[in-house]
Amino acid sequence: MTSETILLGLIGDDISLSRTPAMHEAEGLAHGRPTVYRRLDTVTPRLADRSLNEVLTAARDLGFNGLNITHPHKQAVLPLLDDVAPQAAELGSANTVVIAEDGTMTGHNTDVTGFARGLAEGLADAAMDTVVQVGAGGVGNAVAYSLVTNGTAKLLVADLDQTRAQALADSVNRAVGREAVTGVSALGIEEHIAVADGVVNATPMGMPAHPGTAFDTSCLSQRHWVGDVVYMPIETQLLAESRALGCRTLDGTRMAVYQAVDAFRLFTGLEPDARRMRETFLSLG
Ligand code: NAD
Repeated sequence: MTSETILLGLIGDDISLSRTPAMHEAEGLAHGRPTVYRRLDTVTPRLADRSLNEVLTAARDLGFNGLNITHPHKQAVLPLLDDVAPQAAELGSANTVVIAEDGTMTGHNTDVTGFARGLAEGLADAAMDTVVQVGAGGVGNAVAYSLVTNGTAKLLVADLDQTRAQALADSVNRAVGREAVTGVSALGIEEHIAVADGVVNATPMGMPAHPGTAFDTSCLSQRHWVGDVVYMPIETQLLAESRALGCRTLDGTRMAVYQAVDAFRLFTGLEPDARRMRETFLSLG
């Protein structure tokens, strides 16, 4: 096996708290490959005046093997790439760029595959037919696409900004070629949740800076499953209240870990140990 160093990076705004670099560095080393994963923070003075294309091409020219892309660049990166995998092209968003030996850059979306794998493992056999999603931001886009391409026939999406919910519905419907997603008002969302199979929180509600829940949990009963994308803290108020009501739950750590697991495989061609990457992720909490 080669012992060549793996060089990776994350391009995004305000990424100092990301746990992704540590997961890749530890996993690479465990495979006998020294791995360096740099934060390329696009709000720092060194990069703030650079275009995304400049940062991307600099990384390619300096020999990076791959990049993760996060807010606010996941959509803007697509036209700058040589190739885009079908799922990322369909959704119009990439969080992973693999850089081949010859410098060719290919975009992928492991937020989509990561959420799907977390869902399949954490809520195996749960009814997925009708789902409500609250939150239509960056993460919400990937979650919605992931749900409707993995068994959800009808997805209702609400956001405080209703135009965002509608825009998400339009873009995912266009991507999948059917009317799978409907944008609805966040006001009275509990009525939709009460008759759905499950609900996903894709808002920041539950984080210390955004305490509380995005909807009134008294609409839940034992037959519902409840997912949360928030992972700081892992046990959000939403998940605690849902579990107390007897609901099955899915916390935000699975998506966060599996997006990295899938990206590591794409970057290196090596088979990552998901449990080990999860341990690294949890050790940083
Ligand atoms: P974002 O700001 O792009 O989107 C959040 C959306 O939620 C916004 O459109 C906002 O209007 C909406 N919203 C906020 N409060 C609401 C409420 N009470 N009711 C309805 N809508 C509401 O943020 P994002 O990038 O999508 O991230 C959302 C959260 O996802 C983050 O705060 C973070 O905790 C979490 N996150 C999880 C992962 C993971 O892998 N699990 C990765 C990144 C981020």
